[in-house]
Amino acid sequence: MSRGISERTEKVRVVVLGGGTAGWMTAVGIAKLLPDAADVQLVESEDIGIVGVGEATLPHIRGFVEKLGIDEAAFMKATHATFKLGIDFRDFGRIGESYIHPFGSFGEELNGVGFHHYWLELQRHGLARPLGDYSLAVVAAQANRFRPPANDVSLASTYGYAYQFDATLFGPFMRDFGLSNGVTRHEGKVNEVERDGVDGNVTALMLEDGRRIEGDLFVDCSGFRSLLLGEKLEEEWEDWTHWLPCDRAAALPCTHATPDIRPYTTATAMPAGWRWQIPLQHRMGNGYVFSSAHISEEEACDAIVAAADGEPLTEPRILRFRPGRRRRSWSRNVIGVGLASGFLEPLESTSIYLAQMAITYLIELFPTDGKIDPRDRDEFNRLVDMEYDRVRDFLILHYHATTRDDSEFWNHVRTMTVPDSLETKLELWRKAGRIEKYSDGLFYDASWIAVYVGQGMLPERHDTRPALGNAQQLAKATERLREAISAEVAAMPQHDEYLRSEAARV
Ligand code: FAD
Repeated sequence: MSRGISERTEKVRVVVLGGGTAGWMTAVGIAKLLPDAADVQLVESEDIGIVGVGEATLPHIRGFVEKLGIDEAAFMKATHATFKLGIDFRDFGRIGESYIHPFGSFGEELNGVGFHHYWLELQRHGLARPLGDYSLAVVAAQANRFRPPANDVSLASTYGYAYQFDATLFGPFMRDFGLSNGVTRHEGKVNEVERDGVDGNVTALMLEDGRRIEGDLFVDCSGFRSLLLGEKLEEEWEDWTHWLPCDRAAALPCTHATPDIRPYTTATAMPAGWRWQIPLQHRMGNGYVFSSAHISEEEACDAIVAAADGEPLTEPRILRFRPGRRRRSWSRNVIGVGLASGFLEPLESTSIYLAQMAITYLIELFPTDGKIDPRDRDEFNRLVDMEYDRVRDFLILHYHATTRDDSEFWNHVRTMTVPDSLETKLELWRKAGRIEKYSDGLFYDASWIAVYVGQGMLPERHDTRPALGNAQQLAKATERLREAISAEVAAMPQHDEYLRSEAARV
């Protein structure tokens, strides 16, 4: 940083450029969690606006909301949110087949052997029920029921949940929260960026009307424009289109087609990509994520209008993107968060999570003494890269693990070469039903198992220990588990009923 700790406040002057989901999450996170170390200002332009999509989240967001001291019921009411237990994937492995990737486990480990090995053993004997029957989150989702998990070690604690919210309402909610928690907001368009002639650090943002916002640390949340990190610092973009060919979306909010509000997101494979259905309290988010190399924008708009079950509330809106990430998310005194630093399509609702993790790492590595230690910057970049790489591999799996050969798009993704890191994971699974172990980042055993099994990719063999026991006894034990899950779910309220009771609390 060129100036070190500001003389005026003795705090690090943080300037956040952008008031979308990433910008307000960053500003609020830093202001609330580093109140003595940082002075936070945010610049946003109503004229430019926000991307305004991004409705489904992962369970980690609850930790963020909780840490900030936001009341869940108030937040849900303000953003018309629903609860989410996972994602229902349809037609990915094969047309007509579906599975739920739940926020929770399948069964439980026994004698150090993962439940899926027991399930594979039952499968070998023709005694297995669908894997989802042994997941509380899956069974609850299928029954449209919801109740928060118990806070103990019982069966009722074996799942998690996230939110599905209206992205256009989330920003304003966070903005109000930020303004009452010390964030200073500037409305206006940045048209010039001042830099230090010696070290190239950014020193100030110039607004069209002549205002000058000085800072020590700049967080680029300017969305796909990436005004500071991409445009000014020319931080290189690593393009992943060859693995994730979808580069467009046609978004179409609709009315609900049925009175039930599902506690899960639906992702249905389409000839040139997939479409989402995200139930909110007041409407159903719909959209077709597609590859422009395989279908035109007009065809994609027609396809989503034809596929949506509710009444469209607007015309379809096209969003264009490029999958990938900046080689470094933190360069000089600029940190990219959100779309300014990278984008992976929303197949597993990971973008808001990636922004949240970048904020968390930034807070952990924050230069409280006003001087950026290059080792902290490198560590931040390593952690962000690791997060992106894990998500990337998992997304590619959904496309690659398919038998579909009904379109050019599916032929391409089925036969393409995948990253070495994914190839290693696939080999481990194919040969012996193993999941690569890691302790950081997203997507652990249950997630990989859900997709492998859900898309019909069974391993050649599995752990031999379950075969040492009696298959009939194993079947009885798993049946008891299944019955306990069913009973637990039967005691849960319907999702809409639970939503109404929560709304009444506020
Ligand atoms: P934006 O919302 O674009 O905000 C950019 C901000 O920068 C705006 O406030 C703008 O005014 C400001 N700005 C830009 N230039 C200037 C300037 N010169 N001067 C002043 N201000 C400026 N994520 C999920 O987690 N789940 C999902 O289900 C999901 N679905 C998605 C579906 C699609 C089709 C797409 C494209 C994305 C989806 N995402 C999803 C990603 C999610 O939308 C974004 O991660 C999230 O909205 C964060 O956006 P952002 O704040 O980085 O950018």
